Amino acid sequence: MLGKLQKRGDNEEMRGPPTPLRSQSDPANPNRSYDILIIGGGINGAGIARDAAGRGLRVLLVEQGDLAGATSSASSKLIHGGLRYLEHGELRLVREALAEREALLTIAPHIIWPLTFVLPHDAALRPAWMLRTGLFLYDHLAPRSRLSGSRGLDLARDPAGKPLKPVFRRGFAYADCWVEDSRLVVLNALDAAERGAAIRTRCRFVSARPEGGGWTATIQPDGGSPEIVQARVLVNAAGPWVDRVLREGMGRNGRNHLKLVKGSHIVVPRLYAGEQAYILQNPDRRIVFVIPYEGRFTLIGTTDLPFEDDPAHAAISADETAYLCEAVNRFLARPVRPADVVWSYAGVRPLYDNAAAHPSATTRDYVFDIEAGEGRPPVLSVFGGKITTYRHLAEHAFERLRPFLPGLAGPWTAHAPLPGGDMPGADFDAFLARVQAERPWLPPGLARRLARAYGTRVERLFGGAKRLDDLGEDFGAGLTEREVTYLIETEWARTPEDILWRRSKLGLHGGPALRGRVVEYLTTKSAPTAVSRPPSPACG
Ligand SMILES: Cc1cc2nc3c(=O)[nH]c(=O)nc-3n(C[C@H](O)[C@H](O)[C@H](O)COP(=O)(O)OP(=O)(O)OC[C@H]3O[C@@H](n4cnc5c(N)ncnc54)[C@H](O)[C@@H]3O)c2cc1C
Repeated sequence: MLGKLQKRGDNEEMRGPPTPLRSQSDPANPNRSYDILIIGGGINGAGIARDAAGRGLRVLLVEQGDLAGATSSASSKLIHGGLRYLEHGELRLVREALAEREALLTIAPHIIWPLTFVLPHDAALRPAWMLRTGLFLYDHLAPRSRLSGSRGLDLARDPAGKPLKPVFRRGFAYADCWVEDSRLVVLNALDAAERGAAIRTRCRFVSARPEGGGWTATIQPDGGSPEIVQARVLVNAAGPWVDRVLREGMGRNGRNHLKLVKGSHIVVPRLYAGEQAYILQNPDRRIVFVIPYEGRFTLIGTTDLPFEDDPAHAAISADETAYLCEAVNRFLARPVRPADVVWSYAGVRPLYDNAAAHPSATTRDYVFDIEAGEGRPPVLSVFGGKITTYRHLAEHAFERLRPFLPGLAGPWTAHAPLPGGDMPGADFDAFLARVQAERPWLPPGLARRLARAYGTRVERLFGGAKRLDDLGEDFGAGLTEREVTYLIETEWARTPEDILWRRSKLGLHGGPALRGRVVEYLTTKSAPTAVSRPPSPACG
């Protein structure tokens, strides 16, 4: 039986080794002068950093905590067109998001894969013709080659109807994609670093002032002294803190552009067999997703609540847990109770404030704000956006910044695999079969997890390992010393939370015992032996 595992909130930042794990200076850039300074290591900042580095720009990204430490690890983890947004007339967003599904599936087939959604029809909520029309648009708004189209389901006969109450006899199935959200961020940062960007985690942007036609900025590494850097262009991708960066870091007194909307998820022991997810309609016209999660679990979310506190402290409330359980219990035969919840997380959507009356109706599209001129160098702020649209958002950002970056190279990210995603034909199953055939000593579950997490980079993780023991101590749940070292050396991991909840979800499987062992290991392991090679000469 599963015990209570950690919840976000009581597993917050337990520090790992206090020593800086990477050089805080930038030997490749001793003058600390960049083309572009990016504030925020969520998906938008990391995506823009990757795009910029690939265009040959000198890039510095600063992230005050861990990569994906805020909203970008608290999503529903879907690369989706957003069927629901059609109701709000967000055709542009849906079209762009649908097209991105196919692009992202191809460049990161290890961490992104197709997921079938089952939509049970509830005649009291939306008529069948409306659902059919929405799905028709969904099928046809953007070209589709790797994902199947929608279809009607006889839930009385189809296996997908089995977990549902018998009253739901009709339904629809359509495809979207799953994404390992925090790994997507890390892989974008890694690719940026390998293309020459300086990625500095645990380093806060403090302020910037115009000087000599560019920006002079102060950044503050954790536990270090403030540093001064120069950049021609600033990109403010601080997510829920975008307004705060403008106000406190740049002295802007304009109106707030953001509407913060909290969303929470619960995780319970697996509710049903089968790999399909469900999209459940709620009487308040919202929808709730029920998704197979990490093999043994089911993920349920999300909520939509106005939020005005510090985004760093978003946490699920008892009312939200009850709301999510009720939503599931209207449809699934097997009831879920708040006591079943083994983990939960909450995040804050940094939505652009389009003055919608209800949080669910606030636009999910992104908006750029560019300020420049009259002696002021450019600053581009990103409001809103989805994980799904991050790659395209970065391309759009450079279209807008082109006038300020003469000679800027063109877009390139649509077909370039992310680290580990360079598998022939983007065929993950064939790749996994190869990993298993080459290493018959790997337990199948571990082989699959590592192949999913690292893709072709798994070769670097294994090094010359010839047997399981070569991967070092197993700390629990299949997390080996070799993997921890790889995460520290290559993926900016510093704390147990970085390793157990963002680079992986092993915290869910290993519980407090695993965390205790990782804490012990990170505390006793001296940093120089744990870390030998930064991925680029320029990572903080
Ligand atoms: C509940 C929920 C479910 C969602 N589900 C989905 C989904 O299924 N699919 C989808 O496509 N999208 C989804 N989204 C939306 C998506 O998660 C967000 O739009 C996206 O993660 C925002 O990324 P970001 O980079 O703008 O912000 P963030 O991820 O919050 O990153 C901003 C970063 O800036 C850093 N920062 C702030 N101030 C400073 C400073 N002064 N110095 C240095 N760093 C700073 C922060 O620490 C933070 O890490 C969901 C969102 C929520 C909340």
